[in-house]
Amino acid sequence: MLESDAIGRLIEALRTLPGVGPKSARRMAFYLLERDRDGGRELASALNHAVEVVGHCKICHNLSEEEVCRICASSRRDPSILCVVESPTDLQSLEQAAIYSGRYFVLMGHLSPLDGIGPEALGIDRLQAMLDSSEIKEVVLATNLTVEGEATAHYIGELVRSRGIKVTRIAYGVPVGGELEYIDKSTLTRAFTGRQEV
Ligand code: ZN
Repeated sequence: MLESDAIGRLIEALRTLPGVGPKSARRMAFYLLERDRDGGRELASALNHAVEVVGHCKICHNLSEEEVCRICASSRRDPSILCVVESPTDLQSLEQAAIYSGRYFVLMGHLSPLDGIGPEALGIDRLQAMLDSSEIKEVVLATNLTVEGEATAHYIGELVRSRGIKVTRIAYGVPVGGELEYIDKSTLTRAFTGRQEV
């Protein structure tokens, strides 16, 4: 190995980040050590802190420092509409587009039987309890338009419909195979406002 143990360990650690291969990891490590040690210290400390204090909202599963996240705790959010998304990043995309004022349920993934991810892993039992115990009148299925996202939407859609609750699906403008995270704000807005009952 060319690097010292400490540098090698840092490079390996940086490779944990999505989309970061060995070359970029090495570039990042050298950048921090040569040019921005304060930035590196802040990065380490922010990361450490976040890993310690951020958990999941006990209602919607979104990442949260509090037991109940700010969206679930807010009296300004419409409790009659629930939007189901795959990840906290997708929730953020919708929040940034500022098109939705209801509540969320974050699956933290999608159904993927081959990887052993079934309904239990996604907390769908908790979602069902929410549907049974609250005043939800519409569920918006905003999972990705990938094969897994569609299968997940279909599965949840059946559960919702069997309770006589309206089910809608975002679609318009989102390309097949599209992931919410990478869709621009105006397309996402059109997809959301143009959602159709399924
Ligand atoms: Zn919440």
